[in-house]
Parts: sequence; C-alpha cells; structure tokens
Amino acid sequence: MYVPSLPRVLDVEPVVGRCIERQTSPELTKMGERKTVAFIGLGAMGRGIAANLATAAATGDEITPPVLVWNRTVSKSDRHAAEFGTRRARTLSDLSQADFIISCLPTSVEVAAVVEELAPELKSGSIWIDCTSGEPDATKELARKLATNGITMVDCPVSGGPAGAKSGELTAMIGGDIDNRAKPIISLFAKKKVVDCGPVGAGHAVKAMNNCLNAAHLIIGGEALIALKRWGVSPEVALCAINASSGRSLQTEERLPKEVLSREFDYGFKLGLMYKDVRIAIENLGSSFDENSLLPLVKKMLKASVDEQGFDADYTRVVETLERRAGVQLCKDV
Ligand code: NDP
Repeated sequence: MYVPSLPRVLDVEPVVGRCIERQTSPELTKMGERKTVAFIGLGAMGRGIAANLATAAATGDEITPPVLVWNRTVSKSDRHAAEFGTRRARTLSDLSQADFIISCLPTSVEVAAVVEELAPELKSGSIWIDCTSGEPDATKELARKLATNGITMVDCPVSGGPAGAKSGELTAMIGGDIDNRAKPIISLFAKKKVVDCGPVGAGHAVKAMNNCLNAAHLIIGGEALIALKRWGVSPEVALCAINASSGRSLQTEERLPKEVLSREFDYGFKLGLMYKDVRIAIENLGSSFDENSLLPLVKKMLKASVDEQGFDADYTRVVETLERRAGVQLCKDV
C-alpha cells in the first residue's frame, strides 16, 4: 500500500517577501528632483545599461548628466564616454557623491571589493543598486554593512542578455526596499518588467534559479536534438515541429537554432558566469533537493563544460560538450 510521507518540518524562515509584480508605467517612474548616477562595470551588460542611463540623462528629467562610469580597464570607460556622453571616473572615489551607485560585476566577490573601498566615502542617503547576478546571503551582508553608513542596497539582477541591455528591454528582479527613489532609475533600463521579489537577496535568489532553468532547458533541448539526429531526424526539422508543439522553450526557439545550429555560439554570456549562477542556485538555495532531483545535474554538466571549454566560452557551448560526448554535431541542413 502506498503511504504518503509526511511533509518535513523545514528549518527555514517563513516567506515574508511580497509577490507584487509591477509593469513599468509612467506613473511609477516619476521621481521629482533630478539625481546623479554612477555606474561600475562596463562589461557585456553594464555597457548597454549605462548607455541607456546616459540617454535618459540627456533626454529626460530623472538624471542629471553626465552619468559617471568606472571600469577596471580604463580604455573601456574612455570609449563609453566618447560613444555615449558619459564621464569617465578616474578612481572609485570620484563616484562618492552620486545619489545612485549601480554595479554590474561578475560576482558578489567583486561587488564586495568595490563596496569595501567606496562605502566609507559615500553620501548618507544614497542608494546602491546591484545589477550583478550575485549571491543572496553575500548581498544581505553587504546591505547590512552599507546600512551602517546610511546607504540602502537593493539587488537588481537583470535578464535579457546584451541585446536587452542595449535596447533597455530587460527584466529586473528586485530584492530589498525598492522605494519611489530607486524605481524610476531601474525603470529606465528595465523596460520589459520590474518585479519586486521580496527582501534583500530575493532578487539574486530568483535570478539564480531563473538561470538554472535557462541552462536546464538548453541542455535537455540539446540532448533531445542529439538523440533525434542519431536516430536520423534533422535538428532543423525537429525544431520546426517542436516549436509548434508542447516541448518548446526559449532555448528551442532561440538559442538552439540561432547559436548552436548556426555554429555561432555568440549569445554574449560567459559559460563560467552561467556556472556561477547555477552553483548559487544549487549550493545556496537547493536545500530541498535530494539524490533524485534534476537541477543538481545541470551544475555537474556545466562544471564539465567549463573545465573543457574555459570560463570565457559562450554559455551555449555547453551543447558542444554534449555533442563531443555523443560524437554528433548539430547543424543546419545544407
Ligand atoms: P563581463 O565579463 O562582460 O563584464 C564583467 C565586468 O566586470 C567588466 O566591466 C569587468 O571589467 C568587470 N570586472 C571583472 N573583474 C573585476 C574586478 N576584479 N574588479 C573590478 N571590475 C571587474 O560580464 P557580463 O557583463 O556578461 O556580466 C555581468 C553580470 O551580469 C554578471 O553577474 C552576469 O552573471 C550578469 N548577467 C549577464 C548576462 C549576459 O547575457 N551577459 C545576462 C544577465 C546577467 P574589465 O572590462 O576590466 O574586464
């Protein structure tokens, strides 16, 4: 006889976050007085986000121009200033008087380093918006530290890739007290959707799980196409059917045809950064997973792929690792 097991009593805090989802709307984006903005990290994502903020400063009434930009490799900030009308900060200290400091760095480790250096000099009352896909617990700790200096931190990881960063069509996942001051600034580069996920760290938690799902869908999509090709069905034909059927996903509709079958592997998101997100999802949030859970396998697969292809390879190359194992290459019909 089947006896259902009793639910376990979990040693976790009750969920207190809000589940409020807000579409960006003009009423929510009015801030009143213009603010100064400083941006840290002009990588694949930061470059486009900072450019949209510069456009908003030049054309709108939320930000006082120029947007200050700081990047570890100085030539990138010089190029950004020339191209988008931002102003290059010579040192992190040059950012200290900004009302908003926005960071977009690889991990929470780099964010902690810039917070450590800059926090003592920042104005009380300023707001730090962290667009890095970071670690929830590390972010809680940074927010506590910044609060002692009178600075509010919100985690604001984004989704939409470099193309979304360039067009401003990002989704932002907010953790923390997103009040009427932060919201109008975030809305300038996250025009697709802004979601209040809960307390500080909640945005980073949701982002890590989102990317775990992204990678999982890519891997299972790749595995399915490899199996079909071995059996004798063309990947293009298979996608044509699947994308009009119930097995489709963003990965079967976009990444597999555009990055894998084309052999371009140029989406613009590093494999090592995707592995970092999946590791956060499994190691920091995966207390409910057990040996039968599927998502931990995603981490294992990405680890093998990073070891094989290197940190900087495009994340879509995880499918190349699957191909090598199977001795099959997915490509377009000629
Ligand atoms: P990139 O590798 O393109 O850029 C990283 C940025 O961080 C660069 O500006 C780099 O400076 C800077 N940086 C690296 N190490 C340090 C350091 N030790 N100190 C100071 N600055 C440093 O990354 P992305 O822009 O792709 O990613 C940024 C964040 O956004 C990550 O958390 C990522 O997971 C997330 N993300 C990425 C997406 C994508 O599709 N690319 C999509 C959504 C989120 P330098 O120019 O000197 O190297």
